[in-house]
Amino acid sequence: MNRVGFGFDSHRFADDRPLKLCGVPIEHDRGLSGHSDGDAPLHALIDAMLAASGMGDIGDYFPDTEKKWKNADSSWMLSEAMQIVLQAGWAPVNCDLTIVTEAPKLKPQRARMRERIADLLGLDSTSVSVKAKTAEGMGPIGAGEGLAAWAIVLMEEID
Ligand code: MG
Repeated sequence: MNRVGFGFDSHRFADDRPLKLCGVPIEHDRGLSGHSDGDAPLHALIDAMLAASGMGDIGDYFPDTEKKWKNADSSWMLSEAMQIVLQAGWAPVNCDLTIVTEAPKLKPQRARMRERIADLLGLDSTSVSVKAKTAEGMGPIGAGEGLAAWAIVLMEEID
C-alpha cells in the first residue's frame, strides 16, 4: 500500500542567524528564526512523512519547549523522523518540495539540497525534487519578512 502526505512550514527571517535550507548552509545576510535552525523545508518534509505514516506531526516529537531541539540541526530531526516512520512500517518513495522566498536565489544550491535530502532519506536524488519560487513581491513573503515551504511525499508500506 502507498500513502501520500503533505506538509507546510514558514519561518521569519532574523539578522543574527546563519541560513540553512534542506540541510544545506546557504550564503545570505539573514537566517531563519525558530527554536531549531529554522529549516522550514525540512520541517514541512517531516510533517509530510509523519502524516503519510499516520504518526502525527512534528510538534509531537520535536516540541519547541524542549531544550534538546534548541538551535538543533533539522537534518538530525529528519533522521529521527525517518526512524519513527520506518518503525511504523513506512518508507519514502519520492518527495517534492517548493520553497517560496524573495531572496536568496536558490537555483545554484538546488542540486546540493536534493542530494542532502536523498542522503537523509536513503533515496536516489532523482526521487527528490526541490523547487524555488518567489512570491513576486506579494504579501509578507514577498516583502521578505520570511520564507515558506511546502512538501509532499509518497510513502510505501514495508512490512
Ligand atoms: Mg518549523
